[in-house]
Amino acid sequence: MPECACGCGEQTKKGKYLQGHEQKLRKELEEKVGSLQLLSSLVKVTQKYAQEQMGLTDLGRLVKLIYSKE
Ligand SMILES: [Zn+2]
Repeated sequence: MPECACGCGEQTKKGKYLQGHEQKLRKELEEKVGSLQLLSSLVKVTQKYAQEQMGLTDLGRLVKLIYSKE
């Protein structure tokens, strides 16, 4: 049986997540970054870096800025 994708370590009977754990993971990620808006910003800047529209120095500066707003 596969392990739940949320990281809780429990086994799932079917699917990637135990019931409710996908939503739990979303909420945890949002809280770790500070808000849904900040999580969106974090995804945007990492995507720009991955698409080579931003350098590592700018990425680092923006990631620190995003996490400093929690
Ligand atoms: Zn889980």
